Amino acid sequence: MASIFITRKIPDTGINMLKEAGHEVEISEKDGVLTKEELLESVSAKSYDAVLSLLTDKIGGEVFDAVPSAKIFANYAVGYGNIDVDAAKERGVTITNTPGVLTDTVAEYALALILAVTKRIPEGDRFTRANKYEGWSPELLLGSDMKGKTLGILGAGRIGSGVAMRAKKAFDMNVIYYDIKPNEILEKEIDCEFKETVDAVLTEADVVTVHVPLLDSTKHLINAERLAMMKPTAYLINTSRGPVIDEVALVEALKNGVIKGAGMDVYEDEPALADGLTELENVTITPHIASATEETRGKMSEMAAQNILDFLAGDTPPNSVTG
Ligand code: NAD
Repeated sequence: MASIFITRKIPDTGINMLKEAGHEVEISEKDGVLTKEELLESVSAKSYDAVLSLLTDKIGGEVFDAVPSAKIFANYAVGYGNIDVDAAKERGVTITNTPGVLTDTVAEYALALILAVTKRIPEGDRFTRANKYEGWSPELLLGSDMKGKTLGILGAGRIGSGVAMRAKKAFDMNVIYYDIKPNEILEKEIDCEFKETVDAVLTEADVVTVHVPLLDSTKHLINAERLAMMKPTAYLINTSRGPVIDEVALVEALKNGVIKGAGMDVYEDEPALADGLTELENVTITPHIASATEETRGKMSEMAAQNILDFLAGDTPPNSVTG
């Protein structure tokens, strides 16, 4: 029997798998993000064999050293920018993630944000709730059509491809994309065009949607200079990671009409928001819920648990990112 620490309550499916396999599972009693001190204190309370962590946990050498018995940290997310993978490798700690299961959900969500902002749905909702609706009007809250417009994908991996296919098949948009490498599978699936640079996508697209992982090379991939390259009629959507966009520069761009609107699910310094963001009508902001469906969060729980179970059984877990 192994002992496993989970840094915050997650859906029961995975927790039950670990318990049914005969392991002892302890879940943080705090229903909130553990502070650095709380995290260090919790993981060092016992000689845990495994830790199931969340993307809100900042995990580096100090945390690994606080629980040297735990040779696997299973992250409950596809992104693992919250974990210092080099520090893990140095200590022989395996890191796993939950890829694939959230692809469709997040792709659907990116489309939902695109529609929300281009059709001004949250604005319309606020307007109607405020009892401002006085009857149909020819020019009330005019939005934009998507058919025939150009969607620019930055990062055509699993989620980016999912968005591209839906935008093409459901909305008949033209799709262009930039990635560090062309995506042949996507190009076989739909008619789309690979662009050699980020800038080429930004200057041409009517809607830009960001799906790159957070890396040193993608931090502030979208900055003031690049926002200025976009069309003044264009929209920017971010369901990847907050620091990929310079949020202060985005607020300025939205305020000054550099771009027309934005849809954001992630923020540079979550849960804090850049000054002025909430005052803008032309941005739809949601609290990092792109993967938040009952189905997907349950599958993520199972996947993280399976990674731990395989590791504890002496096998290489299916979703190791440490090789
Ligand atoms: P993925 O690895 O399948 O795709 C990422 C793509 O980005 C790859 O094709 C990669 O080649 C490309 N890329 C890497 N560096 C790049 C660069 N500098 N410029 C352009 N392209 C680059 O990952 P995925 O499953 O599609 O997930 C993408 C990201 O979405 C995750 O890393 C995660 O941060 C984020 N995400 C957010 C939520 C949410 O709740 N908002 C949920 C799931 C995933």
